[in-house]
Amino acid sequence: MDTQQSKHIYEHTDYLNLEVNSGGSVIHARQTSGRFRNIKWLIMSALLIPFFALPYFSWSERQAILFDIPARKFYLFDIVVWPQDLIILALLMLFCFILLFTMTAIAGRIFCGNICPQSVWTDLMTFAEHLAEGKASERIKLDKMPWNATKIRKKLIKHSMWTFICLLTAITFLGYFSGIFNAWASLLSLSFNIYEWVTIVSVFSLFYINTGFVREQVCNWICPYARIQAVMTDEDTLTTTYDYRRGEERGRLQRGEIAADKGDCIDCNMCVSVCPTGIDIREGQQLGCINCGLCIDACDDIMDKIERPHGLIRFMSLNDLESKEDAKHHVLRLRPMLYMAVTLLTFIGIAYNLLFISPIDMNVNHERSPTYTIMSDRTVQNMYHLILMNKTEQAAHFKLSVSGIDGIRTNLDGKTLLLNSGQAKKVDLRIKVPQKNLNAATMPIMLNLQSTTNTEIHKSYKSMFFSPGK
Ligand code: SF4
Ligand code: SF4
Repeated sequence: MDTQQSKHIYEHTDYLNLEVNSGGSVIHARQTSGRFRNIKWLIMSALLIPFFALPYFSWSERQAILFDIPARKFYLFDIVVWPQDLIILALLMLFCFILLFTMTAIAGRIFCGNICPQSVWTDLMTFAEHLAEGKASERIKLDKMPWNATKIRKKLIKHSMWTFICLLTAITFLGYFSGIFNAWASLLSLSFNIYEWVTIVSVFSLFYINTGFVREQVCNWICPYARIQAVMTDEDTLTTTYDYRRGEERGRLQRGEIAADKGDCIDCNMCVSVCPTGIDIREGQQLGCINCGLCIDACDDIMDKIERPHGLIRFMSLNDLESKEDAKHHVLRLRPMLYMAVTLLTFIGIAYNLLFISPIDMNVNHERSPTYTIMSDRTVQNMYHLILMNKTEQAAHFKLSVSGIDGIRTNLDGKTLLLNSGQAKKVDLRIKVPQKNLNAATMPIMLNLQSTTNTEIHKSYKSMFFSPGK
């Protein structure tokens, strides 16, 4: 290694003898700056701002996004999703899972380090802790010092900020179900119902304990995803990796020292000190690494100081590490491409279902016992049991007509059916056809349900008419 040009030797005594996380104590990760930290801030903002702001948006004189469980309706701006449209929610869950698989196959636990609510809220809570108690080294000292007025004051400020964040989170979460203004009103008058109390207390406690106290231990020891991710990754998956070929043999540099016989790692421990899960990435790729990239920022900063190139720690795969050069095929591989294809299909399925969501539903069951009845007026009658549902926001009158065979008529001809908003109604439909017009044992017919006031609201259903035939 050529260190002839190195003039500045990095020295920071706070972190030289740092111990890696063994699960025994809280990790006080040092704040860092750099491109991965900036990406984290950006993603954090892109997730937190909509989460906290969206419940305050209105749409058609109601909350734009509202999961109204008592009315069994989910409002998404202009779209109303009923329990009958659960296929959309099922597809949405499938989409999220496959997207997660895709991200993991390409870049390991990148979701954990940047998008997972556990990481995002932990970042927020740690930021509050930083404001209240100072930088990481000061927090470590504060935790070790005996209780005194300063420690009590700082801890009180921190817990007040944590309480504010978690309460705001819990109220916002509840607001998606009860209406945000109802949630605030109930909080101010302490008049939550039992379900709301359970929600508020559960969400508040979950975030306070998980992201305030347990933090990285969730990622290391509790989260099941950490355990199953191994089946989605392979030797070409990108993960934060220490380039041991370049870094070893590591060794600390003293000011003025030129170490021509050492690797680029100066054993400063900065990569460990910024790690939110408290691991030492130089020990190899490991389960506890959430791929946040903060150690890359920290190490690049050190490389600048000792005038060595960036990338001693960088995103690369095991194959890259062993073949000594970074491959270009991390995304265009069979596994991620298969995951991406399924993700795209589920996305198309969701978009199709959302765009063509029907404002009315019609389920049709043909009576099988008997399949048909020959009437005294030389007609054949089939009986159908219908369930009609009005999924619009207003009550409406509907007309049901049947077509497909000459002379077809029903007991509902000339009548209208009133369906209230959200109402599902059972209707018995008797269809009669003159026997002379029936030239096969089964003939297709079409049932059409049409709103009397809005021609755009209609639904058709293809069924069969049974008879003895010719
Ligand atoms: S890998 Fe980089 S940040 Fe970590 S100890 Fe070595 S020089 Fe320091
Ligand atoms: S080792 Fe690096 S990438 Fe992995 S969790 Fe720690 S800081 Fe983040």
